[in-house]
Amino acid sequence: MPLFGRLLYCTKCGHFLSAHGSTKPKKTKYACQSSGEEQRACGTRLWEHYLLPVVFRKLSEELRGFSPRFDGTERLASLDARAEKCDRDIVVLKGRLAMPDMPIEKVRRRIAEVRELKRTTLQERAVVDMERAQLDEVRGILAEFELFFAKLDRHSQLEVMRRFIRRIDVGVTDIVIH
Ligand SMILES: [Zn+2]
Repeated sequence: MPLFGRLLYCTKCGHFLSAHGSTKPKKTKYACQSSGEEQRACGTRLWEHYLLPVVFRKLSEELRGFSPRFDGTERLASLDARAEKCDRDIVVLKGRLAMPDMPIEKVRRRIAEVRELKRTTLQERAVVDMERAQLDEVRGILAEFELFFAKLDRHSQLEVMRRFIRRIDVGVTDIVIH
């Protein structure tokens, strides 16, 4: 299946270019045949391997525009502060165990509560941290879109092209990607 089948549009005569494949990789040619016959071809033609870098440059520019930003920095800071406060409270409570002003059972219960609070705080922190790691991964994919694309199978590559590109106008001197 040609990567740009039904996507390349000849602006000179208003027809879609048709693909002329070969079994060798990078040897697909697209040509406009306004009448459908080789002898009446308008002359607009394009090699797939010339077009691909142009498409990648354009897609990379667009994708950079919606690169996701991590907005959990404040949440992480407040969770860290809460965990540190738990540690401090536990130190204070342990000091109280040695003092007779509070029943030991009550102090022990309070220590268990603070430990439980710290445990849930760290769990929450791990979730936010995972969000950050996932966003980093997405950003990495967007930054290296060409590498990511190369690793996809042909079917997924076609799907990506169809999802991001509506039409590519091929003029005499310029290529415009929509
Ligand atoms: Zn044409």
